[in-house]
Amino acid sequence: MTDKEFNVGDKVWVASYERQQVKKDCPICSGKMRVTLILGNGDLVETDCTYCERGFEKYGWIYEYEYVSVVRQLNITRKEVNESASGRDVEYYHEHWTLAHDKSFLTKQEAGARLEDMILEAEQNDLERIKYTKDQNPRKYSWHIGYYQRLKRDALREIERCDRRVTFFKKKVKESKND
Ligand SMILES: [Zn+2]
Repeated sequence: MTDKEFNVGDKVWVASYERQQVKKDCPICSGKMRVTLILGNGDLVETDCTYCERGFEKYGWIYEYEYVSVVRQLNITRKEVNESASGRDVEYYHEHWTLAHDKSFLTKQEAGARLEDMILEAEQNDLERIKYTKDQNPRKYSWHIGYYQRLKRDALREIERCDRRVTFFKKKVKESKND
């Protein structure tokens, strides 16, 4: 949020996301629950898929989280001002929701950019969680392939996101030069 003080009735753009659990075919065994390894001498060895197993159960599918972005404009219905020797604190509300300072903005673009950061952070937390599982399974090769594929996919997404940000800020620089 900016330093500008808002009033009841003003509108701000708020960034938020919803996390959805999605069931997907196992990307390693495609639901067959078995994979084939090629050994150094060319022999093929069939083994259990460890990517989609949980505990001793085998599934053929996995759960992943997907993030659905929501950027919406809300009006301030309540404002709380707290003044003390240490300064002035203002809290804004839309009905029963607090409009967090770090998630509420004057423009839709700023809220969108913040939302991308929030989702990236959440995805990184997801990766850390699965990295923990990975470290518990040091010899599960097929699991590792799945892990690194996912890491790669997320890294590619991050590159895309950074490109969009670069374009966004370049455009901003241009706009401010034209002012
Ligand atoms: Zn599998």
